[in-house]
Parts: sequence; structure tokens; C-alpha cells
Amino acid sequence: MGNLRDFVADTLEINGAVIEPLEPDGLEVLAPEPVRKAMGWPELTRLGFGVERPVGAIPAGLEGDWLDRFGTLLGDRGRWTERQVAATGLPGNPERLLERALDLPNAVWRFQGVNATWTRCLLLSFRYTALSDEKREGLVWLGFNLGSGAALDDMLLRLRSQMELEPDWAAPEPAVRAAAGPSWSAAALETRVKPLLEHRIRTELEPFLHAMRRRLERDRNRVHAYHDDLRGDALKRLSVLSGAKGEKADADRKRETLRAAAIELEYHAKLDDLRRNYALGVTVEWVQALDLYMPVQRFDVAIRRRKGERSIQLDWHSLVRLAEPPLCDWGLGLSRTRLVCDEKLHLTEPEGQAPCASCGKTWCRACHPASCPHCRRASSSETRHERH
Ligand SMILES: [Zn+2]
Ligand SMILES: [Zn+2]
Repeated sequence: MGNLRDFVADTLEINGAVIEPLEPDGLEVLAPEPVRKAMGWPELTRLGFGVERPVGAIPAGLEGDWLDRFGTLLGDRGRWTERQVAATGLPGNPERLLERALDLPNAVWRFQGVNATWTRCLLLSFRYTALSDEKREGLVWLGFNLGSGAALDDMLLRLRSQMELEPDWAAPEPAVRAAAGPSWSAAALETRVKPLLEHRIRTELEPFLHAMRRRLERDRNRVHAYHDDLRGDALKRLSVLSGAKGEKADADRKRETLRAAAIELEYHAKLDDLRRNYALGVTVEWVQALDLYMPVQRFDVAIRRRKGERSIQLDWHSLVRLAEPPLCDWGLGLSRTRLVCDEKLHLTEPEGQAPCASCGKTWCRACHPASCPHCRRASSSETRHERH
């Protein structure tokens, strides 16, 4: 619980409270008016974080509304921060490194050079809440190298855990800031963030959705079986009555026909209830942004396809000793495989050069984002990964 106690102590101090550590695992807080109001405390409060608490301490933990109340105290502080990271790792043999970093089934590459520089990586975290008959919450992290344009999906975890090992925060030096280059425009960032965020949350929620669909299926089968039995009984009684004559038989027939219709209505109403109960709502909220200034080894690579040639850059990150995936002109670019197009040598995910679903000819989705150039079929009807 040491981390939580430190966080609470820091947050309260920032807000003007006077803090004294109390053993075991507690804090004594002399709170100014705004803190008293936000937390609902008297002027002098004792907090306990462990199983054993100081005498007279309120138990504080991650449960209940504690985090919400501390969130109110924090406001927008800590939402965005920047940090320069020191690292001295050097890559090994460049050719061998590129062999692992690049997978270009329809093109060849040539190593042209490498130089040490700085880049700027943006790490963003989002909280999602999915609500249907049950609730699921979670946090996803996205990362982009703003210098090279690469998505940092795979190396994010390592990047974040490496940084936690480095307790010293350094603000970026002016020279580093200049070397790393500018940020992206809001529009450019949104273009990249939106599809990747959607993809990540969809992946995170897949087990939850799967379980939900199973419950829905089970309930639907149960509702169906129950009403099917009832309806079967009513139809059976009707068929027994079919040969009968007279007023009573007519009245019975009418009653059973009405009963069967009522069962049908009730069945559909129950299905509607299920649909409402299992309707899924997902909300996503941005939590934090971290601007990292990081040392990289920037590789210059020539990509050749037929008679065309194009130069790209690919960063090797000293902190995690990993090469990022190559840039991607179409698709999320999370894996390392890229196909290269004939027209403009775009690097795309393999689906970006896939045969048209309608005419069967291949075409580059980066060259022609809207529709197939051969048959004009709209591409939105066949792909989900396309960037807007
Ligand atoms: Zn086509
Ligand atoms: Zn192209």
C-alpha cells in the first residue's frame, strides 16, 4: 500500500494540506477548507492504508469512491506531461537488425546509413467502459513515434516498464526538443488515434462480448423453448377440437386460437426485453498523455519495387533496444509485414494491396482510398482498417 499512501500524501500536499506520516502505514492530515470540502473531512484527519491502522484512522483504499474524490482534488493536473529519457544502448549489425525489422514480400531493401538522433513519442491512455447486462472497464495505451510516424504497439509495455525503473524525471532540454521535431496537428493525431483506439478496445472487449453473446443465446433459447411448449399445447388442443361441432366447440376453438396468438405476442415482447437488456454501450475517455523525448538510432533504408525506389526511415529505440515497425501508409501498421505498391511505392498492410472484392484485380488502398480504380466499387464496403 506504500504507493497509494505516497500518492495520497502528494495529492494532499499539492492542495495545501500538511501531512505527517503515522505508523503503521498511515497519515495525519491537517486539511485546508477546499480539501475538507472535497473529501468531507474535519480539519484534522487520520488515514490508515494497511490492514493494521493507527488509532482513530479512517481506512483508505482503492475501493469505494476514494479515487473519484482524489480525482476531484487533482483536477486536470497530471493529465499531460513530458519527459526526456536517457539511454545509451547501441544497435548491433545494421543489416541483421533490418532483416528482423522489415518484412517486404514484394520489394527489396538496402541499408543506407544510420545516425543517432532524438525523437518524440506520444503515449496516450484511455479508459473504456462497456455496459450491457454486465459491466467491463479497462485502460488501453496507444503510442506513436511522432518523428517517424510508426505505431509503437508492441514495444509500449517494455517502454513503460523501462521508464518506471527510471525514477528521475528530466524535462526535455531545448536542443533535444529541437532535434526531436514538432508534434502532429490535432487532425493528424485524430486520424491515427481513432482507428487504433477502436481496434484496441475491440480486441480488449472480445472475451467480454463473447461471454455476453453466449448469455444472450442461452436466454433466447430458454425463452424460445418455453413459448414453443405453450404454443405446441395450444395447437394440439386446437387439432383435437377441429372435428368437433356445436357452440361449445366453437367457443373452445376461439379461445385456443386467441391463446396461441397471445403466446406469440408474449414471445416477441420477451425477445425485445432481452435485446434491451443486452444492448451494449461503450464509452471511452482520454486519461493521460505522456510526451517522451527519446534517443534513437535512425536508419535510412532504400525500398525498391520494380523500377521505383523510395527512402524511408526507421528508428531503433535505445531505451528498449528494439526497432519499431516500419511506417505504414495504409492500415494500423502494427505488424512488420508491408506490401509496396507499383504506383507510388506506398508501404501498406497486406490487405492494402488485396484483390478487389468485386472485380478481383489488385489495387493500392493508399493510392485510391475511396474506391477500386478498375471497377469503382467503394472500398468502405470491403474493409474495416481504412484510415479516414
Ligand atoms: Zn474492383
Ligand atoms: Zn499506392
